[in-house]
Amino acid sequence: MVKETQNLIKGLPHKTIERLSQYRRALLICLEKGKEYIFSHEIAEIQHITSVQVRRDLMLIGYSGTLRKGYNIKELINLIGNIIDSPGGINVAIIGMGNLGRAVSKYLTHKRQKLTIVAGFDINSKKIGNEILGIPCYAPDEMKQIVEEKKIGIAIITVPATKIPETTKRLINAGIRGVLNFTPTPVVVPDNIFLEEYDMITSLEKVAFFVKQAMIEEEENRM
Ligand code: NAD
Repeated sequence: MVKETQNLIKGLPHKTIERLSQYRRALLICLEKGKEYIFSHEIAEIQHITSVQVRRDLMLIGYSGTLRKGYNIKELINLIGNIIDSPGGINVAIIGMGNLGRAVSKYLTHKRQKLTIVAGFDINSKKIGNEILGIPCYAPDEMKQIVEEKKIGIAIITVPATKIPETTKRLINAGIRGVLNFTPTPVVVPDNIFLEEYDMITSLEKVAFFVKQAMIEEEENRM
C-alpha cells in the first residue's frame, strides 16, 4: 500500500473501521445483484444510518463518488479491501474447539479470502491430533510452535471463562497480534496486541434494558 494511503488510514476511528466492514458486506450483495453504482443514501438505508455518516466515513478514506451516478461499487469494495485486509492475508486460530469454537469456525470458514482459520487448540485428548470441520486441532502446549510455524496473527478465544488467564498467557507468549474474546471474562493483554471483546450477555442485557424502558413508557402512556 502506498505510504500516503497508509498515513490516511492510520488514525481511522474504530467505529469507522466497523462501518467499512459493514459497507463492504452490503456492497458485495449489491454487486452480486448486478448493481454497478450506489448512492450514499442507499448505503445508509441498508445500514440504518444517515447518509451524512456514510459520506463522512468515505471522505475519511479519501473516496468520493460522482453526483450523477454515486459511488462505483467495485472500486469501493477494492478500496475498503485495501484498507481492512492484509495483502498476504492473516491466519487465525480458534482456542477452544467446543460448541462456540466449532460454530465460529463453521461460520467464518471461506467467509473472507484474507482471513483463514488454520488451527484449533483444545485440551480434549479426543480432539487433539484430529481435524474438526477440516481444521487441525492441537494441544495448548503446542501453541507457540504452531503459531510460529503457521504464521498465525489472530486468536479467537472460545474457552470456558475460567481458562482465560492461562490462555492469555499462552497467546502472549506465542506472539499473537490480535485477539477476539468471546468469553464473558475480560482479557488483559499488552498494548501491542489488539483486543476486541464480544460478550453476548452484555449485548442481550442492553437490548433487555431498552425493551424495559419502552414497556415502562407504554405503561405510563396508558395511565
Ligand atoms: P464448550 O464447553 O462447548 O467449549 C469449550 C471448549 O474449550 C471445550 O472443547 C474444552 O475442551 C476447551 N478448553 C477448555 N480449556 C481449554 C484450554 N485451556 N485451552 C484450550 N481449550 C480449552 O463451551 P462453549 O459453549 O463453546 O463456550 C465457550 C466460551 O464461549 C465460554 O466462555 C462461554 O461463556 C462463551 N460463549 C458461548 C456461547 C455459546 O453460544 N455457546 C455464546 C457466547 C459466549
